[in-house]
Amino acid sequence: MRILIKRAAVIARPEEGLIPAADVVVEGRHFAGVLAPGEASGEFDKIIDGEGKLLAPGFVNAHTHLAMTLFRGFAEDLALQDWLEKKIWPAERKLTGEVVYWFALLGLVEMIRTGTTAFADMYFFMEEVGQAVEEAGLRALLSYGIIAPNPERIEPELKRAEGFAREWNGAADGRVRAALSPHAPYTCGPEVWREAVSVAKELRIPIHTHVSETKREVMEHRERYGKTPVQWLEELGVFAVPVLAAHCVWVDEKDIDILAAHNVSVVHCPSSNLKLASGIAPTWAMLQGGVSVAIGTDGAASNNTLDMVREMRLAAILAKAKAEDPRAMPAPEALKSATQRGAQALGWGKDLGVIEEGYVADCVLFDLGTVHFLPGHDPLADLVYTASGADVEMVMVGGEILMEGRELQTLDEEKIVARCRELTRKFR
Ligand SMILES: [Zn+2]
Repeated sequence: MRILIKRAAVIARPEEGLIPAADVVVEGRHFAGVLAPGEASGEFDKIIDGEGKLLAPGFVNAHTHLAMTLFRGFAEDLALQDWLEKKIWPAERKLTGEVVYWFALLGLVEMIRTGTTAFADMYFFMEEVGQAVEEAGLRALLSYGIIAPNPERIEPELKRAEGFAREWNGAADGRVRAALSPHAPYTCGPEVWREAVSVAKELRIPIHTHVSETKREVMEHRERYGKTPVQWLEELGVFAVPVLAAHCVWVDEKDIDILAAHNVSVVHCPSSNLKLASGIAPTWAMLQGGVSVAIGTDGAASNNTLDMVREMRLAAILAKAKAEDPRAMPAPEALKSATQRGAQALGWGKDLGVIEEGYVADCVLFDLGTVHFLPGHDPLADLVYTASGADVEMVMVGGEILMEGRELQTLDEEKIVARCRELTRKFR
């Protein structure tokens, strides 16, 4: 398959700014060239008109719990502990593979519609999530979330997580990869972490976890172990494997040095951190300190959307407030965190995240034809500060078109919506 995206404005690499008009050629799974308009030659199986549109690398949602679309609007305006212990955890006990499958599909519809091409997901019934991802055509790093507060849970939880990882790593023609996910330092003790690291080393897969999300969690960890969660994880040897550390809201300077030294990918989830009143992560200090900061939406129960374009906007704006400097997290940096740094976090950094010959063709086309993009002085800034996922009209993953003209190509949206409505009744 040879596809031409004709005369689009292109952001090939955020730090290099905007190419006002280019012809982008896709051959099979890869970009085959970014050329001056009219320069692409030969036969094409498909030509996409890019006039008045903006082509950007696909968005990477580096931390979410996809099937939590079920709990969107389910437990609002509660304290974190009540939210988890009184509402979310009891409802999660009623989950089945079928429910997770359909609500994962619902999440995938939302992701495609808002320009996400890859994501990292940690949850339960992950086989069903894997199946949904396979059908949808996205790329994902999937892991079973290990929660082992008491010793007898350790072995079965680890077994389950490892079994999933062995079976699904490299599935769906390589679009699905697996990670190991001890849920957090406060839900998993040292034995779980040590074992997870040893399995991750053997399978050469990353660890995806939650770190230092709330002030209370860090305080309790210090009381119990005499050090911060980041320092504790370093001592346990966890950072010897690639790690995605979601949140990192409450990190100190020493923590930041450790995260940078071990190339840990921090995943900033601004909406969730604000809505659950966890705080504001020092993202600009982390980036300046050499930490790779990606962006995630977290689950739809605490966001309540999976729209990475909106999440990127919030991340950019919030970084300025936190750093007390409007120059912090400029638009190209925010876009890089939402795309390339996410790809890097998921372990696809060498293949994905930029629009250049030889890279895998994961990209999204924005329609710039609506009034909120006028007058168009700086389309890259417009993309970060003005756009939302609703402006996305075409999505491509590995050269396959998942949405065109806002029509989904791989999923039956009507059927998914109908099934999810039915299944919701059990959770009322
Ligand atoms: Zn999370």
